[in-house]
Amino acid sequence: MHTPLGLTADELALTARAREFSINIVRPRAAAIDREEQYPFDIVKALTEAGFMGMTIPREYGGQGRSFLDAVLVIEEMAKSCTVSARIVVEANMGAISTVMAYGTEAQKRLAATLVLSGDKPAICITEPAAGSDATAMTTRADKRGDIYVINGRKHWITGAGVSKLHLIFARIFDERGAEQGIGGFIAVREEAKGLRVARREQTMGLRGMPEGELVFENLEIPASMALVPPSGFARGFADLMNAYNSQRVGAGTVAMGVAAGALEHALAYVKEREQFGRPIGEFQGLQWMLADMQIELNAARLMLYAAARSRGPDGSAFPDPMLAAQAKIFASEAAIRIVNDALQMFGARGYSRELPLERMARDVRMFTIGGGTAQVLRTLVAAKMLGWKLPQTRDGYVKDMPLSRFAAE
Ligand SMILES: Cc1cc2nc3c(=O)[nH]c(=O)nc-3n(C[C@H](O)[C@H](O)[C@H](O)COP(=O)(O)OP(=O)(O)OC[C@H]3O[C@@H](n4cnc5c(N)ncnc54)[C@H](O)[C@@H]3O)c2cc1C
Repeated sequence: MHTPLGLTADELALTARAREFSINIVRPRAAAIDREEQYPFDIVKALTEAGFMGMTIPREYGGQGRSFLDAVLVIEEMAKSCTVSARIVVEANMGAISTVMAYGTEAQKRLAATLVLSGDKPAICITEPAAGSDATAMTTRADKRGDIYVINGRKHWITGAGVSKLHLIFARIFDERGAEQGIGGFIAVREEAKGLRVARREQTMGLRGMPEGELVFENLEIPASMALVPPSGFARGFADLMNAYNSQRVGAGTVAMGVAAGALEHALAYVKEREQFGRPIGEFQGLQWMLADMQIELNAARLMLYAAARSRGPDGSAFPDPMLAAQAKIFASEAAIRIVNDALQMFGARGYSRELPLERMARDVRMFTIGGGTAQVLRTLVAAKMLGWKLPQTRDGYVKDMPLSRFAAE
């Protein structure tokens, strides 16, 4: 059986199960998670028991071998109730865990799978104070010393800082002679790893139950066996590792879309019930057309995310197509901000009250055009693929990277 959105009976059953979990277990806790700014370990335990943590992990490692689309369906349902819980499902099925499961050694995969399947939400550590969109400007370094790497540096805005156990840390690699080898990923387990410190927690606008923090690495020793070596080796490995990030982008876009879907559900119920001028406000065409536009944008975002989740990147990649993932994240994150804003508007003053979830949703959803590649940087990626050019962002980039003959011809 296929629905208008192309979901199978199995996918619909999974959606229904996730929806029930979201309404009964997650929704009653959502306001308190935001107010108390505490990571919801109780929800994580329930998610683990329900099999929503690590469901994309292959069966031979204890997971269910589910697809990214399955994860997307669950994430949307969680996001309708609680953005933080939805982000936990993203990071327990996409991002760092999918990277390790794709490129890791047997030991790395077993370690990562065991942690996630027992309820850990991994942390992915790329961004630094002076290296945000320009991630390759990172200065965190990993120096080879015999059979270990010694990591020194600083990362900030790391999701799950202080609560995540599994960390995938990106660093510039130097061999024993001090020669640079490229940017690679290193697997560390907090509490077991001496030299990994949470320096501070960011004071965030929304998503307050999820700690975002600054991590400092001081002579953090990682066994060489915990270096994640992607298929193209260290020299070009950053591109492979970032390719894995396309799953995370689809997940982040889905969280935004799910928050918007939740806000729209609230608004739809309210416009039927609230009366002004002697009739339900839903009878006013001004609001009807807003509702229709919200629904159109929501479904467009949903279809783009489904398509991206189902896609595969070039050369048999295990990850979504970068073009589809980037377009879906840009569209979904921007549409979601508009939809949530309009839903809040339909509640009048009540929408502005902390007694209803709309203001929380508006704060939470604002993040998704920023984290995981900003809307501007992703547009550059889309344009670069359209043009078939590498679009370096540095001032001397074109001169450095482009054959000059191309300019002479113009
Ligand atoms: C809630 C949250 C969670 C996060 N979680 C993580 C995490 O777990 N791990 C992690 O590593 N990072 C994480 N990040 C960091 C995130 O990936 C970065 O914030 C993002 O990549 C942008 O970097 P920046 O904040 O330094 O902004 P900047 O790079 O300083 O950008 C500032 C502005 O300039 C624009 N800009 C920059 N370069 C260009 C360009 N070439 N063309 C056009 N516009 C440009 C940007 O779009 C933006 O509007 C998180 C961020 C947030 C907000």
